[in-house]
Amino acid sequence: MAEKLDLIPASEWGFFTPPEPMVIAGPCSAESEEQVLETARGLASFGIHMFRAGIWKPRTHPGCFEGVGKRGLKWLQKVQQECGMFVCTEVAGKDHVEACLQHGIDMLWIGARTTANPFLVQEIADALQGTDIPVLVKNPINPDLDLWIGALERLSRAGIRKMGVVHRGFSAMRSIPYRNNPGWRIAIELRSRYPELPFFADPSHMGGDRRYILELSQRAMDLGLDGLMIETHCHPECALSDARQQLTPEELRVMLGDRIVVREADSQEADYRKNIGQLRARIDVIDENLIALLKARMEISRMIGQYKKEHNIAILQLTRWDELIEDMIRKGCNEGMEERFLRAVFNDIHEESVRVQNEVLWDKSELTE
Ligand code: PEP
Ligand code: MN
Repeated sequence: MAEKLDLIPASEWGFFTPPEPMVIAGPCSAESEEQVLETARGLASFGIHMFRAGIWKPRTHPGCFEGVGKRGLKWLQKVQQECGMFVCTEVAGKDHVEACLQHGIDMLWIGARTTANPFLVQEIADALQGTDIPVLVKNPINPDLDLWIGALERLSRAGIRKMGVVHRGFSAMRSIPYRNNPGWRIAIELRSRYPELPFFADPSHMGGDRRYILELSQRAMDLGLDGLMIETHCHPECALSDARQQLTPEELRVMLGDRIVVREADSQEADYRKNIGQLRARIDVIDENLIALLKARMEISRMIGQYKKEHNIAILQLTRWDELIEDMIRKGCNEGMEERFLRAVFNDIHEESVRVQNEVLWDKSELTE
């Protein structure tokens, strides 16, 4: 049973001022003082207030650039002083938290690999006890909502009230265009359980490629999320980590200024448009999931066809289908759906499965041999 979270709204953290969305931008990694400051100046020039940069980088393979470590914190202090920005970085343990607190870092985030590890989250929570620094929790790399909520609960028990989440997608087992599976359904579920929890999307890690940042950001806005964390680098092509997915400050300015549609909440009409946009985006997510499920189902039908063929079994086994459809109709009716509708949908699915299995049985390439 999830615990209630005692939260302070992000509008009271002192960093984020309207208009929405709240934006956090900056490089994947702090690489040098010059790169950090050049990027920060570019962002400050069009009103970005929260600068991000990874100092300690959790890399998949050893031998990759693993961050500049503590000395990068001094560069972040320069960003605060010279650009008048607030700064945040990723922490993955107690030493990181202590170093950040000593250097006056304004906000922390827990990375996806760390959220997946309750020991580390607890260590961070313990190190944060008695502070009021805001903390964002990225989703765990695996689509486990409870693990994500558990991390929030650990921080909450340590007295952290300025808390938010960052949705960066989930590791994908199958090949998809994005680096990480958006899995919006899980984000929507978390959003509806904790509507007051500040909610950011990270289209950079989700997409893994700068080409997808606009569409993913727009989707996040249509779903009614509160903010965006977007990797931005003064020279993305030379970045030491995540080079493909970073925008220049100028590209970010253009995207936020002219291209993203953020629905307004002022008048009745704007309210309507915002709500309908959010509902439609949710329908789109469900439809995309339906397509993925249907595809997976057809692939299994094809495997069954192959197996029946090898064992010389007839494709149509009506008794099995009759039992299955009655079972599905009963379950669907229990969920409040119409029998007529369920029968039509499942009969169509069955028909297509039979067709797919037939295709296997009558493989044309074999016939022409
Ligand atoms: C990052 O923000 O640079 C990062 C490492 O992200 P994630 O934890 O989402 O992979
Ligand atoms: Mn990154």
